[in-house]
Amino acid sequence: MKWKEQITGMKAYQPGKSIDAVKKEFDLDEIVKLASNENPFGSSPKVHEFLANESFNFALYPDGYATNLRAAVATKLGVEENELIFGNGSDELISIITRALLYPGVNTVMAKPTFSQYSHNAKIEGAEIREVPLVDGNHDLDAMFDAIDDNTAVVWVCSPNNPTGVVIEDAPLQAFLKKVPSDVLVVLDEAYFEYVSNDRHKDTIPYIQDNPNIIILRTFSKAYGLAAFRVGYGIANKELIAKLDPVRGPFNNTVLSQAIAQVALEDDAYIEKCREENNKGKKQFEEFCGKNNLHYFTTDTNFILMEVKVDSDVVFQELMKRGFIIRSGNALGTPGYIRVTIGTQAQNEAFLTQLEAVLQEQGVFS
Ligand SMILES: *Cc1c(COP(=O)(O)O)cnc(C)c1O
Repeated sequence: MKWKEQITGMKAYQPGKSIDAVKKEFDLDEIVKLASNENPFGSSPKVHEFLANESFNFALYPDGYATNLRAAVATKLGVEENELIFGNGSDELISIITRALLYPGVNTVMAKPTFSQYSHNAKIEGAEIREVPLVDGNHDLDAMFDAIDDNTAVVWVCSPNNPTGVVIEDAPLQAFLKKVPSDVLVVLDEAYFEYVSNDRHKDTIPYIQDNPNIIILRTFSKAYGLAAFRVGYGIANKELIAKLDPVRGPFNNTVLSQAIAQVALEDDAYIEKCREENNKGKKQFEEFCGKNNLHYFTTDTNFILMEVKVDSDVVFQELMKRGFIIRSGNALGTPGYIRVTIGTQAQNEAFLTQLEAVLQEQGVFS
């Protein structure tokens, strides 16, 4: 068959191991999954109430324009309805953007390591990938700017960055946005926006007014606790949205997903509570790292990238035997580190006890 040359040898996304698979493999009753940065508290109780009381006509296609959800998000963010695009998770928006803008002969600039879907999608489109190493877990925006040339179509900025958790502060970000040529799209992926508590990071939505070449991506998968429903959205000026929209599938968000995202959006108090709990959880990890002399990156997300001083694959395996699924840094471009989703305080405590035992066993504390 006449496959695109660039997809030969590509592998499907390797998700964190599933709870069921690990239960079976290690004959365990209880597993705590701290691998994919899902909200450990789940979603707002309002969502559960809604699901218990509503019924839907499953025979009909969903509203392809997500009219009600669109109106709710627009009001909440103070933007126009035509400044939004909805995706089947922000993953789909990443794929829509690459499909619309990348092809053989153009290039795309991103940090290294960063969220793997940028390069994965760019590769499928046959574009040249320019990866710019992070500095102390942070985007090197000067070097990224230097990597831009006449053939650059898209620049990916992940803030806070996955897998380091480091958020880009406002001043350098603004300076960067001002410099980037106006015919280069800057994607600001803010999947963890709701968890940010760094006061040197500002809300970026006003920037779409001055920078018609940026799109902000946010999602219901992380703080809103709705990863299963696959809803993400992009915010940009209306000309940019109008260009991207034809690339989107006609019915890309289900009836249920649209309705539930809208319910979750109304519960600000729930998000606030999750952020506070997450901040307490962060402290547990930071204290552990401090006490045990393990380096970590200051995180503005619900995960932490921390040093383990031994092969992270070994730590990953040993933790799995003890009922905890995390991500090994080897798989994320950060060997010697593990990425752990911050759980409930009880989960964190149990996890850190097991981690300490594993590191002890591995001779880290000799
Ligand atoms: C989780 C994540 C996404 C994908 O989120 P979905 O909306 O579930 O597709 C996008 N970007 C980053 C940086 C993420 O960590």
